[in-house]
Amino acid sequence: MRIVLVGPPGAGKGTQAAFLAKNLSIPHISTGDLFRANISQGTALGVEAKGYMDRGELVPDEVTIGMAKDRMEQSDAEGGFLLDGFPRNVSQAEALDVMLKAAGMKLDAVLDLEVEEDEVVKRIAGRRICRNDSSHVFHVSYAAPKTEGVCDKCGGELYQRGDDTEDTVRNRLDVYHTQTEPIIDYYKAQGLVVTISALGEVNEITQRAMDALQK
Ligand code: ADP
Repeated sequence: MRIVLVGPPGAGKGTQAAFLAKNLSIPHISTGDLFRANISQGTALGVEAKGYMDRGELVPDEVTIGMAKDRMEQSDAEGGFLLDGFPRNVSQAEALDVMLKAAGMKLDAVLDLEVEEDEVVKRIAGRRICRNDSSHVFHVSYAAPKTEGVCDKCGGELYQRGDDTEDTVRNRLDVYHTQTEPIIDYYKAQGLVVTISALGEVNEITQRAMDALQK
């Protein structure tokens, strides 16, 4: 299966993507994670991406599309993939279509995670992420780790993402509305969109997503 996950920052895309990818036996491809890996390794791409990310802006398409394409062309993605954070604007969606068409492939579904803005701001402000694995996500009040600053799952160090501050979050939400939301209409025109609510327990949402994708 080839699936695109969309939804505002804080909708739980990363958390759901990790479970769904496991259930469906396809790799989880997150452009945000790819950028963060480049930043921590100090690559030229990471240096370029960091400023945009810290401001909550999109990293330019020239950089992003090439990076996503390289990842999708790796052998583990031959049988399918779950894209998280890509495409993030209409020109990226068009580039993805061109790329897939050239390979004789197409998308099977676009899963849209719906959650209101107040909830998103609350989730992001308290979010803490494990340095070892970005799918190990905690929240200072909703899902606190047993020991502050330590991941329950692997003992890794928990940190707050540099772009999870209030000002940057507002900007990321603006960018989501103006640049990313239009891809939902773009994919609706192709009949690919399934929308589910991203409110509730993590495993409930995973089940909702699996049910929606089965159809
Ligand atoms: P979230 O969905 O919570 O905002 P991500 O980890 O997906 O978090 O993205 C973090 C940041 O990485 C974005 O705000 C943006 O700067 C950059 N980024 C990730 N994916 C893309 C993309 N497809 N195009 C441009 N920038 C991107």
